[in-house]
Amino acid sequence: MYDIRIDTDKALKLLQEMISIDSVNPSLVKTGNGELGIAHHIGQYLEKMGIGVKYQEIDSKRANVIGVLQGTGGGRTIMLNGHTDTVSSETMSIDPLDPRFENGKVYGRGALDMKGGLAAQIAALHSIIESGLRLKGDVILACVADEEYASRGTETLVKNYSADAAVICEPTGLKITIAHKGFAWAKVEVIGKAAHGSLSDEGIDAIIKAAKFLVEIENLGKDILSQRDHPLLGSPSIHASLINGGIELSTYPDYCKIELERRTLPGENRETVAGEIENIIEKVGSVDRQFRANYDVFFYRPALEISREQPIVQTLKKACQIILRKEPEFVGMSGWLDSAVLAEADIPTIIFGPKGEGAHGSVEYVDFDSVVDTTKVLIKTILDFCGVCNPRA
Ligand SMILES: [Zn+2]
Repeated sequence: MYDIRIDTDKALKLLQEMISIDSVNPSLVKTGNGELGIAHHIGQYLEKMGIGVKYQEIDSKRANVIGVLQGTGGGRTIMLNGHTDTVSSETMSIDPLDPRFENGKVYGRGALDMKGGLAAQIAALHSIIESGLRLKGDVILACVADEEYASRGTETLVKNYSADAAVICEPTGLKITIAHKGFAWAKVEVIGKAAHGSLSDEGIDAIIKAAKFLVEIENLGKDILSQRDHPLLGSPSIHASLINGGIELSTYPDYCKIELERRTLPGENRETVAGEIENIIEKVGSVDRQFRANYDVFFYRPALEISREQPIVQTLKKACQIILRKEPEFVGMSGWLDSAVLAEADIPTIIFGPKGEGAHGSVEYVDFDSVVDTTKVLIKTILDFCGVCNPRA
């Protein structure tokens, strides 16, 4: 074991500074401050640590900031990925930008999701630099924008950066997340025929026809999707999120639009979802000759699952055993994360980060000891994964 000291006061101060910088995602909230201010703050901090820094501009309010700690060569490259944006703070019952530290907890919007994880990533890098150890492989610290909305930050990142593995420090309560669900958004347009409300022979009611489709969607969820089971993620699901149709009370509606969300398991994809919707349209149409509909699966994000045999999983697992002195728990997450974008770019990715409560909620905090534990596990993981070239330094 190497003797690497973590300056916890500095890590706490950095975390508090990051919380006090408003970085509400402007795609979620029009007046949101964006990620440019926090990106510059982190960039300056990394430069002071002696790390080369690059920015990827996304638009006038938003940027990724990337620091690369160059290795001496011959080792594997690891990416530490964390998002700098937060969701809105309007519903908070505490001051979102006042990073109060009380009873071991740091409060504020983004404390848990995920400035605590970012602080751990930066502190891990800082501690390695201060120790004088030289790594063989590179460490890429990627602080990205827009995770909470459309992942434009990580999508921009992977155009110019790659790695042999990545760790995202979203809050997992010090458990190792190796799977999460994906999702697809689809729109279905049911076509009727407009007519005066008194002319039942002429009109075709698109809303009534849409109801037949919706009953089959419910059956799909109940009878088929609920029977599928993933050991970490449970069952996939489908629900109707939006419906729109009709003109006025005295007219047969010629159009009804339904928008659906389908949450997917690893192994299901855009084609799976398209096939299910197509089957239902055909089934309803075979019973009701007046039923006409078209569909489009207009947005899709894949699920994530990484094998436990992957070197990054093994390395981080071993680091947890040694640092936390217990068997780490492998878990799945129901929500979607940037990790799937990294995995699609062929970067094996896992999620591991601190404990706390209130992500997106009215009172958000991160447990600071767990930020320090995350830092320790990251240090050990980085040293083992990238390799150390002057082990006796
Ligand atoms: Zn997050």
